[in-house]
Amino acid sequence: MKILAADFVLPISGTPINAGAVAFEQDKIAAVDTKKNLAAEFPEIEIEDFGEAAILPGLVNAHSHLEITLMRGFLDDVEADFYSWLMKLTKTRGETLTEDDIELGAMLGALEGARGGVTCFGDIGRFGRAGFNALKTNGLRGVLFQETEFSPQNENAAEDFAKLVENFSALNETETELVKIGLSPHAPYTVSRKLFELIADFAIKKNIKISAHAAESNEETEFFQTGAGFFAEIYRRINVEWNAPKISPIEYLNEVGLLKAKPLLAHCIKVSEKDVDLIVETDSSIAHCPKSNAKFGHGAAPLEQFLERGARLGFGSDSVASNNTCDILEEARFATLFARNFEKKQKFLQAEKIIETATLGG
Ligand SMILES: [Zn+2]
Repeated sequence: MKILAADFVLPISGTPINAGAVAFEQDKIAAVDTKKNLAAEFPEIEIEDFGEAAILPGLVNAHSHLEITLMRGFLDDVEADFYSWLMKLTKTRGETLTEDDIELGAMLGALEGARGGVTCFGDIGRFGRAGFNALKTNGLRGVLFQETEFSPQNENAAEDFAKLVENFSALNETETELVKIGLSPHAPYTVSRKLFELIADFAIKKNIKISAHAAESNEETEFFQTGAGFFAEIYRRINVEWNAPKISPIEYLNEVGLLKAKPLLAHCIKVSEKDVDLIVETDSSIAHCPKSNAKFGHGAAPLEQFLERGARLGFGSDSVASNNTCDILEEARFATLFARNFEKKQKFLQAEKIIETATLGG
């Protein structure tokens, strides 16, 4: 047995303990109490005391892209234009970085997270192997969501799906107790309706975890509500037919069946009350990424409303190319201060709820 002590122990599921201690038996927590009580209970064990520190459960990064860690700062010159940002990212990942670069970046990203207290990642990867190996090698916990390519054509859905399943299956063979494989249909505007339907159906039948970007920008909302804007322009340029469904991106994800797979939805900035209801009612969850959202100037997701409605919720750094750090404690602090500054706020968000979101929530 091992006993660690600190001035503060935050079990999160219970009240904080001053001058607390945690006893471990191999990889299981055996007891959480005051240092005094554990010292009396286990007099033969030497206690390692960290003094002015806090012991708490590992932080969860619910939305990351470890594979593009090497692009930190590299896309900052185009961050004011989301389309150019996406294009530069895609081109660099596809044409400049080698697979070794991508794997090395993912490894560094995982270590950066671990150094900041992250023990669990919800990581999305187009080169899924990179994030998957980074989590496994560093003893971290998480789900690697194998991402779709740009696949907006309904007529290619069967082919796109077969390729995705092939990538997924190759990784799935070596998943571990700690690191699982899921699927990520990238975003409502890059995945065809048919491909969404195939992925949703497959995920529900096989009980596979899903994560997708959703309701991240005004342009995305415009594309779904009116069929105009820069996403419509891209579709027009590459000759993809688009009939706007005249509903919100979240309603669309519900319509194509994805919400039945209880996905983890990253961002959810442009959401109506009805959208939040849909997320809660379908038991989908949210990765709140306030620093990435602010870096792009996309807006602020309604954190207070998410908490109020009891949405399943965690914090995400997004990639360090849009943050530029992987620091969930800092993300949580930023989220709190940002929410407190909202003119329409009903509540003054407190650290207790936020630290719960950063750990247990994720
Ligand atoms: Zn993302």
